[in-house]
Amino acid sequence: MSLVDDLRSALSHDRVLEEPLELHLYSKDASMMRGEATCVVLTETTDEVAAVVRIAEDHRVPIVARGAGTGLTAGASPTEGGIVLSTTLMNDIEIDVDNRTAWVGAGVINLDLSTYAEPYGLHFAPDPSSQSVCTIGGNVANNSGGAHCLAEGATTSHVLGLEVVLAGGEVVVLGGEAPDSPGLDIKGIIVGSEGTLGIVTSALVRLLPLDPDVRTLLIDFETMEEATQTVSDMIAAGFVPAALEIMDQKMMVAVENWLHAGFPTDAAAMLLAEVVGETEAVTAEAALISEMAYKNNARGVELAEDEAHRAKLWKGRKSAFGALAQISPDYYLHDTVVPRSRLVETMDEVQQIADRYGLDVYNVFHAGDGNLHPLISFDASEEGMLDKVQRAGEEMVAACLRNGGALSGEHGIGLEKRDMMRASFTELDLDAQARLKEAFDPEGLFNPAKILPEGSRCFDFGGTRRPIPEGAWV
Ligand SMILES: Cc1cc2nc3c(=O)[nH]c(=O)nc-3n(C[C@H](O)[C@H](O)[C@H](O)COP(=O)(O)OP(=O)(O)OC[C@H]3O[C@@H](n4cnc5c(N)ncnc54)[C@H](O)[C@@H]3O)c2cc1C
Repeated sequence: MSLVDDLRSALSHDRVLEEPLELHLYSKDASMMRGEATCVVLTETTDEVAAVVRIAEDHRVPIVARGAGTGLTAGASPTEGGIVLSTTLMNDIEIDVDNRTAWVGAGVINLDLSTYAEPYGLHFAPDPSSQSVCTIGGNVANNSGGAHCLAEGATTSHVLGLEVVLAGGEVVVLGGEAPDSPGLDIKGIIVGSEGTLGIVTSALVRLLPLDPDVRTLLIDFETMEEATQTVSDMIAAGFVPAALEIMDQKMMVAVENWLHAGFPTDAAAMLLAEVVGETEAVTAEAALISEMAYKNNARGVELAEDEAHRAKLWKGRKSAFGALAQISPDYYLHDTVVPRSRLVETMDEVQQIADRYGLDVYNVFHAGDGNLHPLISFDASEEGMLDKVQRAGEEMVAACLRNGGALSGEHGIGLEKRDMMRASFTELDLDAQARLKEAFDPEGLFNPAKILPEGSRCFDFGGTRRPIPEGAWV
C-alpha cells in the first residue's frame, strides 16, 4: 500500500491531507524556509501518533511534528519531505487543582491553558508573545520563553512530565508528579529537542497561583544605554521583577501607528517593567523601580492605572512583530542572547551591520535576560534582497557570539541556525549530540536535517538527509 493509504487506514480518510493547497499551507512555519511534505496527518490520540511513526518507519520517510507553526527557525518546515504530523486536535486539559498541575495535550494553545486554569485561581507561567496561537507541544520542543519567564524560568522549569512517542512507536512517560525522578533526566533532553528525538503527545505542567496584585510601569528614556543600565542595576541589586522588556524608538512608532498602546514615540527607548505579588510588596517594588529609573535619567515613569491600561501596554509589546508586518512586506527576526552588560555594545554592532547593508533594523527584547530580537524589515521581491538579509543576519548573530552570547535565546536552532552550530560547539560537542540523536532515532526520521549540521557524526543518519530543495527560502 502507498504511504497515504497506510495512513488513511490507521487514521481516517479526512485526517490525512494531500491536496496541493493543503500541503502548501503546512509547508513552512513562521520563518522564511519552505519544504514540501508528501502528506499531513491530523492525529487525535497517542495511539494514532504511534501508528504514524511506525508507518513512517515502514516507508522510511521523515516525520515532522507541528503545533501551530509559529516557530521562527523552520523547525516545523518539512524541508526533507515526508509526513507533517499536526497535533492541533490533541487538545485535552486535565487539571489537578490540589497539586497545581495539569496534563495537557500537545496541541493545546498556550493561552487556552491559562484561560482554562483561571477559574481555579491558577495559570501557566511561560507566555511567548505568540501565546494566543502557539501550542504546548511547540513550547516544550523549543523550550520557549516569554516576557514573564524572567523570574519564573522558561518552559523547562514548568514541565514535570512528558508522554512521548519514540522510534518504533514506543510510548513512554518521562518524569511525573514525584518531586524528583531517579535516573537520567531524559525528560530534560526531550525539552528543547525540536521534534528531533520523538513526538511529545502530552505534558504534565506546573501551574502557578494567579498573582494577588500587580504593578506595570512604562518608563521612557532619552538613550538606550539608560534603559539597559536600569535593567542591569535592578538585577545587580538582586531584584528580579516579573518582566523587564525594552523597545527602541522605531519599534514604538510601528506599534503606535497600528495599536495606539500609548508608547512614548519621542523617546529613544522604553522599558516595560512588571512586578507581581502581595499589594504591599508590589507597591514598594514599583517605587524602587521608579527610583532606579530616575537615577538613570528616566524622562518619566507611568504606572498602569487599571487592568485595561495594563492589557493595552502588553498588547502593544506582544504585538511588536505584527506591527512590523503592517508596515513591511517581510521581516526577518533574529533571536540571540548576550550577557546583560553587553546589550548596548551588541545593539550598536547590530545597527552598524544593518547600516553597512543598507537595511532597517528594529529592536524589541526581553532585556532582563539579555535576549535580543533584532528585526530586519525588507521586501523579499527585490532582487538579491533575501541573500543580503541572510548575510546581515548571520553577521548579527556572530556579533552576539563575540560578545559572549549564545546562538538562540528562546526560538531554537531548527534549520535557520543549524549551520552556525559550529561557531558555538566543538566537533566533540556536536559528535556527542549526534550520538544522542542516533540513540533515540537510529533511522534518522524525526525532523531530519534540523539542529545538527551535516557531518556532526561524520555520516548522515539513515541516509534520509538530502540537500535543502532549491527555492526552500520564501
Ligand atoms: C509573533 C511571534 C512571537 C513569538 N514570540 C515568542 C516568544 O516570546 N518567546 C519564544 O520563545 N518564542 C516566540 N515565538 C516563537 C514560537 O511561537 C515558539 O517557538 C512556539 O513555542 C512554537 O510553538 P508552535 O506550536 O507554533 O510550534 P511549531 O512552530 O509548530 O513547531 C516548533 C518546533 O517544535 C516541534 N514540535 C511541535 N510540536 C511538537 C511535538 N508535539 N512534539 C515534538 N516536537 C514538536 C516542531 O517540529 C518544530 O521543530 C514567537 C513567534 C511569533 C510568530
